[in-house]
Amino acid sequence: MNTLAETARPAEVAAAENTCPHPEDDPAYQVFIDSLSYLPPEELQIVRDAYLFSEQAHRGQFRLSGEAYITHPLAVAGAIAEWQMDVEGVVAALLHDVMEDTTVGKSEIAERFGKPVADLVDGLSKLDKIEFQSHEEAQAENFRKMLMAMARDLRVVLIKLADRHHNLQTMAAVRADKRRRIARETLEIYAPIASRLGLNKLFQELQDLSFQLIYPMRARVLARALKAARGNRRELLSRILEGIKGKLRDTGIDAQVFGREKSLYSIYRKMLEKRLSFSQVLDVYGFRVVVTDVPTAYLALGSLHALYKPVPGKFKDYIAIPKPNGYQSLHTTLIGPHGTPFELQIRTAAMDNVAQEGIASHWLYKDGESFGAELQQKTTKWFHSLLDLQSTAGDTSEFFEHVKVDLFPHEIYVFTPKGKIIALPRGATPIDLAYAVHTDIGNHSVAAQINFTLMPLATELTNGDRVDVVTAADAHPSVAWLAHVKTGRARSKIRHYLKTAHNDESTALGEKMLDQELRALGVVASELPVSSWKSVLRDSGNKLIKEVYTDIGLGFRIAGVVARRLLAREEAPQPTDKRPASLIIRGTEGMAVQFAPCCQPIPGDPIIGSIWKGKGLVIHTHDCPAIRKARTAKPTKWIDVEWEPEPGKLFSVRLRIMVQNTLGVLGRIATEISNSGTNIEHVNMDEKHPGLYTTLHFTVQVGSRTSLARLMRGLRRIPEVARISRDQGLTA
Ligand code: MN
Repeated sequence: MNTLAETARPAEVAAAENTCPHPEDDPAYQVFIDSLSYLPPEELQIVRDAYLFSEQAHRGQFRLSGEAYITHPLAVAGAIAEWQMDVEGVVAALLHDVMEDTTVGKSEIAERFGKPVADLVDGLSKLDKIEFQSHEEAQAENFRKMLMAMARDLRVVLIKLADRHHNLQTMAAVRADKRRRIARETLEIYAPIASRLGLNKLFQELQDLSFQLIYPMRARVLARALKAARGNRRELLSRILEGIKGKLRDTGIDAQVFGREKSLYSIYRKMLEKRLSFSQVLDVYGFRVVVTDVPTAYLALGSLHALYKPVPGKFKDYIAIPKPNGYQSLHTTLIGPHGTPFELQIRTAAMDNVAQEGIASHWLYKDGESFGAELQQKTTKWFHSLLDLQSTAGDTSEFFEHVKVDLFPHEIYVFTPKGKIIALPRGATPIDLAYAVHTDIGNHSVAAQINFTLMPLATELTNGDRVDVVTAADAHPSVAWLAHVKTGRARSKIRHYLKTAHNDESTALGEKMLDQELRALGVVASELPVSSWKSVLRDSGNKLIKEVYTDIGLGFRIAGVVARRLLAREEAPQPTDKRPASLIIRGTEGMAVQFAPCCQPIPGDPIIGSIWKGKGLVIHTHDCPAIRKARTAKPTKWIDVEWEPEPGKLFSVRLRIMVQNTLGVLGRIATEISNSGTNIEHVNMDEKHPGLYTTLHFTVQVGSRTSLARLMRGLRRIPEVARISRDQGLTA
């Protein structure tokens, strides 16, 4: 049952029930048929047949407003005809509620109007069954279905949007709570989709209609205020308009100039989001200049920049770099008379068409078939990226959050070193970019060259950045990255890596720890009888021995306890009492072994480890001030750890260097450090006490205690260096 259909018949209409209506007498039908002049006569006849078919199927059904039901599919088909969609689309629009509300089935439609039309109507009926207001999880799942429908045939979604548009316009007789639910659903799901497809006119109307249905009072007040404000500023606005027109005429540019209206809802959102008053929002006026071709657009821009001063940093060239939905235009903000800033959009007529009708201009805009095809291709690509994301995201509601983010066009565009343009959400970092290019690049990225400068991965990218992601074979994602990514794709890829890799590394560590424990007891792991393992597995509820290792590595089980359980069976080898040996680590165990940020141990330092539940083994130096108390309080939690000789990995170390505050001293120290073959990770300066001396804080990467000692000796030889020490205090 369609949400707005009503089977009870008002008495006055029921009287006319049996008289066969003549559609030609209906002016609405005439207007509709006239709007189809773009179709050849034989296709027009199919549309007429479809109308009669639909009218008959819905006969006896009425909308809540009391009108015959057929008025609704007729209005939807009319909107579809305005986009000049093909005959299948128009017929499907006429039949879109037939399967839902009448006894007509898919096979009958297929027989009468062909399989493509039947598929479209079927798709629309399925979309209708989706309830968007249920729990977030179900909502995400439904959203996915909607995206699938779009990826398969865009016409389904366009008809669905026109359907929703007409329903919103005819809701006066619908119950208030239902009205609000449908309006809210429109704001959350349908309006963003319309925007994403570039259907800006429809997008604004869906928003404004929904806004009026949810907040009728606010909408009325705002509309009244808007009308009054427009009156007050009329003179100023027409002065600017005339100024623009005059300047273009003088330059010999043929152009149409329009004042641009902001939609009610966009004003409301802006007031709400930026906590602005009505007058502050209205301070931004808009004008649009439509020219014949691209060179003229740039010419117009130049001449208007000479007329009014542009606001620096506000110019955007969406002609050179179109938005992913195909939108193209030049945007600039100019300072008008009395210092009033106003927005200006300059574009060609074809681009204006795309800006208004978006994806639908594929049908509307006849000369640009290749352009339309490209647009369709881009849109399809976007859908597929969403579907791809959904299949890797573990949690559906998380997916939904990201789809919502992805649906709003707050993108930035960055360039790869090969000049490829990649669209990312605002706030995205090189990590997002790396995963957008390839999962392998994401998983191995260490830093990025942003506009030829080496920057950390957490750097926020800005529009037009040239970004070259630096990778290293042994690098891998860390949990911290999750705080620095904006795309759902990067997030789910990192999650996936952490989940699997963390387990693998923890399993290896756990096995090593258990081996060590057993060896300390004088037993070789491989000599254990199967029955020993069986009883341990039975006790723990694990299915695989591997899972027991993982639990040990993650700190959920204690190796010593498991070892003793294994040896408890009579047939097991008996322990010979030995002192427990230390655990050997190399520093390359990955996330199962973490080096404490407080003392930053490096090979050569005496170290000690503690097991944290779910975190694995955390390594500190013996003299780390942060653990002094904890060590005496709970001595059992700690295990002895030793470095494997020559592990060959680089470790971060903080150095505190007190220097005479002279020109160029920082440079001399940095040169000495890099000449010694050491990487500088980070440097900052104490600027609190600018006096004779200042303290520099370096984070450098060294392989061992010996190479650190060598580096420090070298630095002490610099005359300006007064004092140098390794910084092992707590991080601020
Ligand atoms: Mn409908």
